[in-house]
Amino acid sequence: MELIVPCHFGLEAVLKREIMDLGYEIIKTEDGRITFLGDEDAVCRGNIFLRSAERVLIKIGSFRAETFEELFQGTKALAWEEFIPKDGKFWVTKAASVKSKLFSPSDIQSIMKKAMVERLKEHYGISWFEESGDHFPIRVFLYKDEVTVGLDTTGDSLHKRGYRKLTAKAPIAENLAAALIMLTPWKKDRILVDPFCGSGTFPIEAALMAANIAPGMNREFRSFDWQHIIPRKLWYSCLDEARENVDKNIETDIQGYDIDPQMVKIARENAALAGVEDLIHFQARPLDQLSHSKKYGFIITNPPYGERLEEKKNLKQLYETLGERYNRLDSWSMYLITSYEDAQKDIGRQADKNRKLYNGMLKTYFYQYMGPKPPRKEST
Ligand code: SAH
Repeated sequence: MELIVPCHFGLEAVLKREIMDLGYEIIKTEDGRITFLGDEDAVCRGNIFLRSAERVLIKIGSFRAETFEELFQGTKALAWEEFIPKDGKFWVTKAASVKSKLFSPSDIQSIMKKAMVERLKEHYGISWFEESGDHFPIRVFLYKDEVTVGLDTTGDSLHKRGYRKLTAKAPIAENLAAALIMLTPWKKDRILVDPFCGSGTFPIEAALMAANIAPGMNREFRSFDWQHIIPRKLWYSCLDEARENVDKNIETDIQGYDIDPQMVKIARENAALAGVEDLIHFQARPLDQLSHSKKYGFIITNPPYGERLEEKKNLKQLYETLGERYNRLDSWSMYLITSYEDAQKDIGRQADKNRKLYNGMLKTYFYQYMGPKPPRKEST
């Protein structure tokens, strides 16, 4: 099968690396999605193991359509009966159109549904669908009039790992946080501090990586019920693999701080739900008390942006303080995602690298201040 995996715009390279590390062959990279080849098992493994993915779709097919008639015929020509049983509930949950003649999502959705009904009517020899069985949500992308149709195996977006019951006012999506950590050279034997940890997303995602805990091992997926496509035993063996991988018997130094004691409490509860409370040290502490005695650590954080949380006027002071505290940390690296335009200016230093990213609709930057690498450990 061809599997399509959407992700955050700008983080395709991270997802690509993850998919290759799982052992699959990438066949296409587009803005915001990667397509790879895999068997049924890859649906389970993709959903359970990929940290930066948004969901996993089975590609049903693709065709060109400039008119609604072509969209109808192209959709009807796809082998829907291979996926959707007689009592299945099916609908186009999302249509995204870029640089294409057809662009109205509601029209695309209703025409495709009609075409699917036509196809399945002929196949099953019935004229009315109860739709009382399993759910089969369809997602469609139009790019330059090329229509790509995918069946969503995931359901609730993969960023929902199941551990974040309570959040900060502006939490970062779990899959975005994971992808950003993976963009840095941080590894579990290096120190990681988030001085604005909020609900704890960065420290928790880092701890999950450190303990090799698969992000999707404690949640459900839409396609778990599709036993005609993915035998249950594939899910169970993938979950066994995930459980065997877990190793919490590790040494790691991951810390989360926030000025708001209530947030710290929430972060601790979330970490406990994620099963990593023993791997993270959370504490209520304002930024101006940030310090660490060791060298070569990492700050990875999502400071207040201004538009959502704080008054703009406090931001200058806050970023200046961040710059000062960072300067005192010997040989540290700092990575921050923010939409605050004056971040570098107020921090007082130009970032070594800078990447534009979209956090939802919000244009943000991932500023990367790279400290020196630690000397190699002497092998004794
Ligand atoms: N990444 C977090 C959200 C961070 S929002 C998550 O996923 O939940 C920014 C956080 O910075 C808020 O929780 C706020 O309480 C905290 N904060 C604001 N000013 C601070 C300061 N001076 N010192 C420490 N934390 C601060």
